Amino acid sequence: MRSCPGQLVVHRDGTVAYCTEEIAGRRCAGEDHPHRGGFFACRVVDGDNCSYCAAAPVDLEVLTTEAVTVVTSTLAPVTTAPG
Ligand SMILES: [Zn+2]
Ligand SMILES: [Zn+2]
Repeated sequence: MRSCPGQLVVHRDGTVAYCTEEIAGRRCAGEDHPHRGGFFACRVVDGDNCSYCAAAPVDLEVLTTEAVTVVTSTLAPVTTAPG
């Protein structure tokens, strides 16, 4: 498989944003090909200005909901205990 000399920039959810070779005007071997420059988070390259990640802050909300659910079910037996 052809590898690409560039760096692959990915969003917080793992979606590929772009390859640095494309930005430099060269051809990328393909986002699914090995990248010798490695992977970088888009916020490392562009700061917090990524409109894609700003529009989809999904991950943290999902984690928070799950955590609350776990805490509630853990407390339930204590509430119903005789006392
Ligand atoms: Zn992003
Ligand atoms: Zn590439």
